[in-house]
Amino acid sequence: MVSQIPPEFIVKIDYDTCRRCRRCVMNCSFGCMQFKDRVVPDHVKCVACHRCVTFCPESAISITKNELAYKDSANWLPETRQNILKQAETGGILLTGMGNPRPYQILWDHMLIDACQVTNPSIDPLREPMELRTFLGRKPNRLEFTRDGNDEIELSTELQPQVKLDVPIVFAAMSYGAISLNAHRALAMAAKNSGTLMNTGEGGIHKDLHSYADNIIVQVASGRFGVTSEYLNTSAMVEIKIGQGAKPGIGGHLPGEKVGEEISKTRMIPVGTDALSPAPHHDIYSIEDLSQLIYAIKEATDYTKPVAVKISAVHNVAAIASGIVRAGADVVTIDGFRGGTGAAPMVIRDNVGIPIELALAAVDQRLRDEGIRNNASILCAGSIRNSGDVAKAIALGADAVIIGTAALVAMGCRVCQKCYTGNCAWGIATQKPELVRRLDPQVGAERLSNLLTAWGYELQEILGSLGVNSIESLRGSRERLRGIDLDEQTLKLLGIKPAGIGQ
Ligand code: SF4
Ligand code: SF4
Ligand code: SF4
Repeated sequence: MVSQIPPEFIVKIDYDTCRRCRRCVMNCSFGCMQFKDRVVPDHVKCVACHRCVTFCPESAISITKNELAYKDSANWLPETRQNILKQAETGGILLTGMGNPRPYQILWDHMLIDACQVTNPSIDPLREPMELRTFLGRKPNRLEFTRDGNDEIELSTELQPQVKLDVPIVFAAMSYGAISLNAHRALAMAAKNSGTLMNTGEGGIHKDLHSYADNIIVQVASGRFGVTSEYLNTSAMVEIKIGQGAKPGIGGHLPGEKVGEEISKTRMIPVGTDALSPAPHHDIYSIEDLSQLIYAIKEATDYTKPVAVKISAVHNVAAIASGIVRAGADVVTIDGFRGGTGAAPMVIRDNVGIPIELALAAVDQRLRDEGIRNNASILCAGSIRNSGDVAKAIALGADAVIIGTAALVAMGCRVCQKCYTGNCAWGIATQKPELVRRLDPQVGAERLSNLLTAWGYELQEILGSLGVNSIESLRGSRERLRGIDLDEQTLKLLGIKPAGIGQ
């Protein structure tokens, strides 16, 4: 069958400046560039990963959208028609990577942060201390103290295990398999440098990362890949993954061709076999079942680590979160429908789930209403794009946020959405040795740490403008947020007033 699919992008080469160095040919991992007597692009293969553009020494390459491919229609958008053509040729489910790109309302952009003016002065973060540290784990509702023989005051309340974060930003769960070992190394190094956590995702942990255990969340997902007692204990925290924002209600699939020697060891499956994570955990069909797993993990880790449960943001997320906290989880992770993924059916990514902003507000409110908010920390994920989003998420009720796509972008990702092909030109979502080595873990770690440092400074600026000197003082302070261009029902769900209304 002859393909009728027109190219999405047009690759233009300025032959007047091109010096025929062929660097673009070597850098294009999607086979778009060929060298005949000069560089000749095959537009159909271009995914707009910008690798060639970045490394062309003459800036001779430009990538543009193929605007003329389809006649205008407000209803039959070019991508809609393109997808139909693809399915007419393949008869298969459309796969994709990264987060939901559809133009659903982004509620972060409809919330504005308050600032102090006269009566309640702002704080200058350059001259006064500003606290960004936060602790994840179950908190007591009250503290009790005793005096010892020397009249010294001692805390007598027994505290549950806590994990300290120097910045309220954690790296998202991304498995070794979905991303490269060098990307995992970079995340682990950056987590250590910045005093935060990375998350192994569901693929087990490579031995090279064992020395970073104090900065690692290990995940227990439905496939139980790599889960051993040693694995659980090589961590600061353990997370049970029930759902993922980008693909609520479905499992995962790492194709056999990506399961090489090293991945086979970390996942504990034979080389070349598909790593299939079932949609449900086959031993969890109730909150009681979940509770058994939470306490089995606590037993296995000698009650020394918080146990988190990660769910995707769905319609009844608040009730589910309440059950999770009552089941004994110390942290609830909520992942919104714009969260990233290495691979997901496009129809699920683009149509299933709810925005993290609404889910977070609903969960925080429900836990408060039930008097159990202190029993667990809330981690919020699903397209946190900048420090403004971080501040708004914390004001809506999160203890800390999770960044995945932003972290990958910091390392070089261009959000081309082709992670599922295994051809990532930036050495991130690939297992091909010649591509993996494109990402230097040291450089990746430095870029990630710089991002967290920059966002940390910006958070301090925001706190100063609000007249508070610690991130904990902002948590759940919805009165410091105002909605703009939001309907009454959405404002009510978010628990915030419209802009222009005072206290
Ligand atoms: S990298 Fe740039 S200069 Fe080199 S061959 Fe390609 S287009 Fe020409
Ligand atoms: S796929 Fe990437 S490297 Fe290849 S031509 Fe397109 S932008 Fe350049
Ligand atoms: S990780 Fe790589 S393949 Fe995935 S979106 Fe980013 S650049 Fe593209």
